[in-house]
Formats: sequence, structure tokens, C-alpha cells
Amino acid sequence: MTELISNFFSGQWQTGSGTGTSLTDPVLGTELVRVDASGLDLAAGFAFAREQGGAALRALNYRERAAMLAAAVKVLQANRDAYYDIATANSGTVKNESAVDIDGAIFTLGNYAKLGETLGDRHFMLDGEAARLGKDPLFQSQHVMVPTRGVALFINAFNFPAWGLWEKAAPALLSGVPVIVKPATTTAWLTQRMVKDVVDAGIFPPGALSVICGSSAGLMDALQAFDVVSFTGSAETAAVIRSHPAVAQRFVRVNIEADSVNSALLLPDAAPGTEAFDLLVKEVAREMTVKSGQKCTAIRRIFVPETSFDAAAQAISARLAKTTVGNPRNEAVRMGALVNRAQLNSVRAGLDYLKQQAHTLHDGATHKLVDADPAIACCVGPTLLGVRDADSADRVHDTEVFGPVATLLPYRDTAHALALVRRGQGSLVASLYGSDLASLGVTALELANSHGRVHVISPDVGQLHTGHGNVMPQSLHGGPGRAGGGEELGGLRALGFYHRRSAVQASTAVLSTLQPPQAA
Ligand code: NAP
Repeated sequence: MTELISNFFSGQWQTGSGTGTSLTDPVLGTELVRVDASGLDLAAGFAFAREQGGAALRALNYRERAAMLAAAVKVLQANRDAYYDIATANSGTVKNESAVDIDGAIFTLGNYAKLGETLGDRHFMLDGEAARLGKDPLFQSQHVMVPTRGVALFINAFNFPAWGLWEKAAPALLSGVPVIVKPATTTAWLTQRMVKDVVDAGIFPPGALSVICGSSAGLMDALQAFDVVSFTGSAETAAVIRSHPAVAQRFVRVNIEADSVNSALLLPDAAPGTEAFDLLVKEVAREMTVKSGQKCTAIRRIFVPETSFDAAAQAISARLAKTTVGNPRNEAVRMGALVNRAQLNSVRAGLDYLKQQAHTLHDGATHKLVDADPAIACCVGPTLLGVRDADSADRVHDTEVFGPVATLLPYRDTAHALALVRRGQGSLVASLYGSDLASLGVTALELANSHGRVHVISPDVGQLHTGHGNVMPQSLHGGPGRAGGGEELGGLRALGFYHRRSAVQASTAVLSTLQPPQAA
């Protein structure tokens, strides 16, 4: 039997009482470790985090908590190789793909350590200036932001076991709010190992950081009024979370990051042969193949002017054809596996569903697997689909196939393109490609109300932009509508979710005691 990995809960390592669920290598099919959360006393563990962890964190100021994040960065950096090994085995990803998750996590945590330092020795934040409430300036209203007196429960998706933990934990812990993370079962090992390394290093106070690996049963029931829950995953599970009594009746604050049918849009000026056209081709091929397309931000729909459709189809297909797929341990491989057989089946079913309204421009089935047995390995080549009539096809606009799959669609003019992009009903990100700066700016604003992020690629930033799908801690992550309506990151904005805003109405003299001390 493989190792049954522990949960860290109520300030101690505890194994579940059941035999557990096996985590497997999606390329070799071997069993790796088991996870189990049955038998945990959830009420006691949530209370321990809420009371002990919360009180200890709130006793510290932002600068002290930021120093803890910086210490955690050092621990994670020191153990980086082990994380890569786990990702290769459990997620089936090549080094570059694992980096998005692992190094992305460490970078994000480091970024919040630096941001936290700027908040100084305070225990709360002021929100704006004091406002006079009447004629007399003596009585005023000052908004303050104070850490919520509850826990932050994270229910995470399988595709980012490292980044999904730290992009949420960094702003929560910096805010003074204890964290309980429940990673997706399939890839829980990496999350557990990172938490273990940080816990073993004794950086955070008892109760500040807990991890539960295994079933989600009972977690939502354990939430109370001042707790918050941040969910990342499919739209179906998101609906369950949103309608849970904790949210619907006890008004627990919730953030949802769900799936999204993201777009790339080639502007009319960017004809084949231009730099902007080439930049789109490169970015689409990269987005489709990194982590085998298992990124919530990956490009799913590519919109190009009608006259550029054939050239774009050819150029993207040519790039995809060069992608070597297979065992991530083989140096020649650029794209590893999907996370498990269920995902492989889901991608195959999704492709069949889309193909009823689309034709195949590049067929992933033509990719021979390198160093992997097709009967066992959950690998699949990248597939580019095409739809000639973008108006009549509906499936492409509302189906997220969570794999290396995207669809090329033609548009007539800019108004048509914008209408088609909006049929995604709200997405995490859209990227624009062109050289006409004014058009790029106007189009970005047109799409801003239906996207959490608009990534604009003009030739001057061709070599330095951060990537359509890469989530940077400085920028907002989340999207309206079907993307879940959530907001994460965006620098210090992320702290808002973990704080409560309150208006203190008092005399100017009382309010002056809330002001930060003047620098000498
Ligand atoms: P999922 O099946 O919805 O699972 C997400 C998490 O919810 C897992 O931890 C899962 O636990 C848990 N869960 C399942 N049923 C639950 C319930 N009834 N109550 C509470 N928790 C429950 O999603 P996934 O397959 O892991 O992730 C893929 C999806 O996530 C894709 O659609 C992708 O677009 C989306 N995603 C979005 C973002 C974003 O930031 N917007 C980022 C990454 C992924 P178990 O694993 O134990 O079932």
C-alpha cells in the first residue's frame, strides 16, 4: 500500500480513518500516495483555526505577517526540487508546465511579502479620508478595514495545486486571517507537501495554516458568519457552493473562480505577415499546449477577420504540429499529460460535442506519444477546430473543453467581433493583437466590462508581455458572469476580501487616534 498522507488540522498532523483515495501518475498509471479526511473533527478544527490561529495572527501587524510570508518563500524555494518531482509524477507536466504552478506560487507569495512590508506596523487599514457628516466639522465618518474574525476556507481546483494555494493564502495570512485549504483530491499531494514544509519550519502561529486532503464533505457546514470561502473549480460545483446554506442563509462571504471560455482577438489591421499576426499565432499555440490546456485562463476561442481565417488556421496548425506530447520525463517532450483518465474522457467527450458544429483544422490524434503507452497515459495532442459561421454555432461560445483544444472563428467587422466575444457570457481574460494603438485601447475598454483582465499585445511588447494566461499578482484575476463573478489578486486589492469595512462615526479628536503616526 502507498503512504497515506496526513492532514494538518487542529494544530496537529492527523491521518484519516479510512483507507483513502489513491493519487496516480497519469502517464505511468502507477499509484503514488493516498489521501483521506474521514474521521476529522471538523467543528473542533475550524474552531481551533478561528480562535487560536485568528487571534495570534491579528496580534501581529502587517509588517510582521509580511515577514512570515517572506520566510515561507525561503522554505518553498529550498524545497523546490521536491515540488517539481511531485508535479511530474502526479500532474504529468514537463518542467516548463510545472513552473507556471510552482514558481508562479512562490513569486506570488514573494510579491505579497513585499506589498505587506509597505503597510507597516499597523493592525488595520484606513479606507479613504474622513468625511464631515454635518455642518460642523467636529463629527466625521472614517471608513476602516479590519481583518475578519473568521477562517478562510479554500476549496481548490486540481490544475494549480501550488499556485492555487499561495495566491489565496498570501493575501489571507497577510490580512491576519487563518487559512484552511482543501485541495482537489487528484493533485492534493503537492499542496500538502508545501503546507508540511512551511508548518515544519514553524513560521506561522498554530492554527494559521491547515490542510485537509480528501472529501469535501462537511466543510461548508462548518462555516460561520464571519468566515469566508474561496472556491475555484467547475461551474457545476460553484453552483453547489453558492446555494449552500452557509452562503445562502448564514451569509458567509464567498468568492467564486469558475470556468471561462476565454478569447484571443486579432484586430482588423493585423493581416497575415504582420508582427501582430505572428504574435497571435505564437500565443495561441502556447496557450493551447501549456499544461495541456488545463488552465482556467487558456485561450478557447480565436477570432480573426474573415480574410485571415485560412492563413491563421495554417499558421497555428503548423506550430501545433511541432508539439511533442508524452512522458514528461523525456527531454524531447514539450507537453505532458492530462491529470487523469476522467479528464481525458471529458476532453474526448467535449471534442466530440464541439465537432458536431465545427471542423478539424489540426487533429491532436495525429501526434504520436513519445515514451508513453497510449493505452495507459492520459496524454492527448492539441486540436484546433474551426467554425466558418460564428453566429450559428452556439456550443463553442459556452463550452469549456478543459484540455488542449481551441476553436478558430471568423468575424466580419469589429462590432461583430465584440458581439461574438461577449457570447462567452463573461470571461477571465481576452487578449488583443494589433498595431493600431488607438483601436487596441478602444477595444480593451469595450471588453473590460465582460472580462476580469484584457491582455493587449502590440509589437512593442511582443517580447516582454507576461502572457495571455499567466496570472500576475499585480493584476486582477477573476471574471464576471459565467467566470464566477470573483475577484482575486490585483495587488493590495486582494486584501479587501479578508477585511471588513466599517464606518467609524466620531469626533475629529477620536478619529485622529486612528491615523498612522507621522514620520519623524
Ligand atoms: P471541480 O470538480 O469543481 O472541483 C473543485 C473543488 O471542489 C475540488 O477541491 C473538489 O473536491 C471540490 N468539490 C467537489 N464537490 C464539492 C462539493 N459538493 N462541495 C464542496 N466542494 C466540492 O473542479 P476541478 O475539476 O478540480 O477543476 C477544473 C475546473 O476549475 C475547470 O472548469 C476550470 O476552468 C476551473 N478553474 C478555474 C480557475 C479560476 O481561477 N477561475 C482556476 C482553475 C480552475 P474533490 O477534488 O475532492 O472532488
